[in-house]
Amino acid sequence: MANTLYDALFAPLSGRRTPFLILPDGRAITGDAFLRMVHRAAHAMRAAGVGVGDRVTVQAAKTPEALALYGAAVAAGAVFLPLNTAYTPAEVDYFVGNATPKLLIADPAQAEALAPIAAAHGARLMTLDATGKGSFADLAEGQPDAFTPAERGPGDLAGLLYTSGTTGRSKGAMMSHRNLLSNAEVLVDLWRFTRDDVLLHALPIFHTHGLFVATNTLLLGGGAMIFLPGFDLDTVLRLMPQATAMMGVPTFYTRLLDDARFTRDAAAGMRLFISGSAPLLAETHNAFAARTGHRILERYGMTETNMITSNPHDGDRRAGTVGAPLPGVEVKVTDPATGAALPAGEVGMVEVRGPNVFQGYWQMPEKTKEELRPDGFFITGDLGRFSEDGYLTIVGRQKDLVITGGFNVYPKEVELVLDDQPGVLESAVIGVPHPDFGEAVLAVIVPEKGAAPDLAAIDAALRATLARFKQPKAIELVPALPRNTMGKVQKNELRARYAARFT
Ligand code: ATP
Ligand code: MG
Repeated sequence: MANTLYDALFAPLSGRRTPFLILPDGRAITGDAFLRMVHRAAHAMRAAGVGVGDRVTVQAAKTPEALALYGAAVAAGAVFLPLNTAYTPAEVDYFVGNATPKLLIADPAQAEALAPIAAAHGARLMTLDATGKGSFADLAEGQPDAFTPAERGPGDLAGLLYTSGTTGRSKGAMMSHRNLLSNAEVLVDLWRFTRDDVLLHALPIFHTHGLFVATNTLLLGGGAMIFLPGFDLDTVLRLMPQATAMMGVPTFYTRLLDDARFTRDAAAGMRLFISGSAPLLAETHNAFAARTGHRILERYGMTETNMITSNPHDGDRRAGTVGAPLPGVEVKVTDPATGAALPAGEVGMVEVRGPNVFQGYWQMPEKTKEELRPDGFFITGDLGRFSEDGYLTIVGRQKDLVITGGFNVYPKEVELVLDDQPGVLESAVIGVPHPDFGEAVLAVIVPEKGAAPDLAAIDAALRATLARFKQPKAIELVPALPRNTMGKVQKNELRARYAARFT
């Protein structure tokens, strides 16, 4: 029977005697062995009552067994729903209540807390721990190695991935088989992934970056992954000589640069470093190039769309930009008020249309209607600007736009000036309530290690470069910016922290 995603990504593993997963202790799981794990897990899902179209929710440590659950759900015709391992049971309650999965697979340590939640929403609870053991693993162990995949077409759902919750409550993005496969096809080609590639995989597998971008691309390209439970600097440095490529969030790259062991030699065997999920500072890109000779390839995407734009493999990888629209994907920058397309050079809303764009938000028809236009364009919520030659620069999220005294301030513009000041490592600019201006621009800066930035000098520099209404009304010094596991700065948290700064 035909199953779009299974046939393209998983079926080719059959009979493959070369590694698909390489573990930090040196053990390797061949493609064929991994496929057998997928099949046994698919049988176990069936035995646990999962039917075609049912959701399977997984909150488990990153292990080969956990990754096999993705393949198993696809094979079984179910909808895979991975959850951030940091979510508390109270948070999991929201997702399970919203998605009503048939099966919830979680760490045994959470079982007691999750049992009433699973019961309340009619889900069966099973376990899988950080060593790949648990009641689900036990059930899978005795199952047959072969599985006939469920019939699934391009338009059927394969994944229900919740957004990171940076701007509000996480929304479930419904991803079809075609959404996922079309993106993987483009990325393999664009980033030149082949069976000779070994991807250093240190990202979580509950997010689109580590799950779909990394795994689907490597599955389709036929390569292998060094599958690490997380980003551990020592392990990454130790194993990099065995890898050809890495996908990371910007914090991976800053952490590598912070370590003197990361030299040109350490990266000599690599052919490609890719960054995304959060903005990569031009400074990081340049420092990385100076240290290693590699220009990090930055791309842009989101849960609802997979990847949207990418810097080129061959050609100019431009720091501070996210490159050009992927083949087959249309991107336009529009006037947020009217929706009219804007010319190059002007900042507006980034909208995207293509086979990668999701099927809508799970059980949120109103939200779907607000963000998905009838003509198929998805309103991303990100503000951006195209250069004359087609490179997109993301200037921030519309929700982070500061409106002060009636004027729009794009935080990124102010952050770029701040980041350039002596002693400043990085910055975040936010809008906070102000009695006269509605919102006031507030700058939060992180000093470089051991530096004590001269705030008066910074203030003077801002005055010299920025219009008065863009100048921060105050500057706060903090040791670090609040970030989530994907390296995204949590501006909501900063806004809450400084809400009463001017009131
Ligand atoms: P929520 O939608 O729940 O508020 P989120 O948008 O952070 O959370 P994700 O789908 O994980 O959830 O992240 C997508 C967002 O990440 C994009 O909309 C964009 O703002 C940001 N992003 C991704 N890649 C880049 C990049 N290369 N440069 C700048 N921003 C990026
Ligand atoms: Mg979002």
